[in-house]
Amino acid sequence: MGFSSKVRNIYQEQLEEIINGGIYKEERFIHSSQAADIEVEYPIGSKLEKVINMCANNYLGLSSHPDVIKAAHEGLDTRGYGMSSVRFICGTQDIHDKLEKKVSEFLGTEDTILFPSCMDANAGVFEAILTAEDVMISDRLVHASIVDGMRLCAAMHDTFKHSNMKHLEKKLQLHSDKRLKVVITDGVFSMDGDTAKLDEMVELCEKYDAMLFVDDSHSTGFIGKTGRGTHEKCGVFGKIDIITTTFGKALGGASGGCVSGRKEIVDMCRQKARPYLFSNTMAPVIVAGVLKVLDILSGSTERRDKLETNSDYWRKGLQEAGFVLKEGDTPIVPVMLFNAKLSQDFSRDLFAEGIYAIGFFFPVVAKGQARIRTQISAGHEIHHLDKALAAFTRIGKKYNILGKSKKEIIEMYGL
Ligand SMILES: *Cc1c(COP(=O)(O)O)cnc(C)c1O
Repeated sequence: MGFSSKVRNIYQEQLEEIINGGIYKEERFIHSSQAADIEVEYPIGSKLEKVINMCANNYLGLSSHPDVIKAAHEGLDTRGYGMSSVRFICGTQDIHDKLEKKVSEFLGTEDTILFPSCMDANAGVFEAILTAEDVMISDRLVHASIVDGMRLCAAMHDTFKHSNMKHLEKKLQLHSDKRLKVVITDGVFSMDGDTAKLDEMVELCEKYDAMLFVDDSHSTGFIGKTGRGTHEKCGVFGKIDIITTTFGKALGGASGGCVSGRKEIVDMCRQKARPYLFSNTMAPVIVAGVLKVLDILSGSTERRDKLETNSDYWRKGLQEAGFVLKEGDTPIVPVMLFNAKLSQDFSRDLFAEGIYAIGFFFPVVAKGQARIRTQISAGHEIHHLDKALAAFTRIGKKYNILGKSKKEIIEMYGL
């Protein structure tokens, strides 16, 4: 009973600050399965609206694919619902091993270890393989889960400017006395949709005897000619020492993640990574689903090809309408609005037009970098994209930002 009015007030004040700052996050309830067309309750308590989802990580449209659902049902029927144990006690089934081997084959790595999520993979991997004699050198825009993983590790931490190879090389020279060096990056950066320069990074890592770590959560399944990820796109397949990725995005979107790479690294994680040792791994039903997803993707590139076509169509459409976009060639297409309130107003207007896309602003992105991050899916048809383009264009006109430059939009709305 230590929750006195003094304690309550402290939290209430902090929550009020968040509300007054206009950055209080509210959730919207989806009443359907995840797909291009969803039914949403928003604001909470109002009647359901049918809208087009433009902001899911459902890149390949597999979240509700009938074959994946069927495989998951079979997994449930043959292997049960839960493991009630961590891996090294009695929480490992044959299908966990099968999935690890299949992921290694798909990513072109020596071995793979499953985690409850990619957040957990990133939380566990650095501490398992590095000590205070070592250094982690990370891109300044890596995902929050990597930042947390580095915090849990005793190795020294340094950063390099986003995708700046000259700066990375300087840092590699600066830390040449360390026992082990790991260069750390996202494959595709989630907020901007740009791709890391993995070809140059591999070269630098070879030159300075450093390992390369890539989190390919926004790539696995669809980036590269056969969807293997950014290492395929950048021509360095088989050359990444440590890949982490998620099954919670393109690969069916349920949950789960992994560390994949050199077999000694994977083995060290099996012995020492705390989220692996002290938390249940993926449930059998999800393992069965991801196995089916990898079967589908290994058999055909149809889905990633359609995703590429859709993404090009969408990007070109927005460009022609006159929006300011972030450069890139991935299914992540940020529509830049710069001002936080404008991004919220824009998102609300989109919803009224049947388009679901969320405004992102500080602290999710830097101050003055507010945006609507759109994400394209192979589950979208051209009619979805056309309807969304028409809505974006109407609302862009309403706020008078079409054909305007960054500078002009900031002059109108401020930062
Ligand atoms: C989404 C994401 C994660 C977290 O994945 P989960 O499996 O949902 O925990 C980690 N890293 C990056 C780069 C991501 O985009």
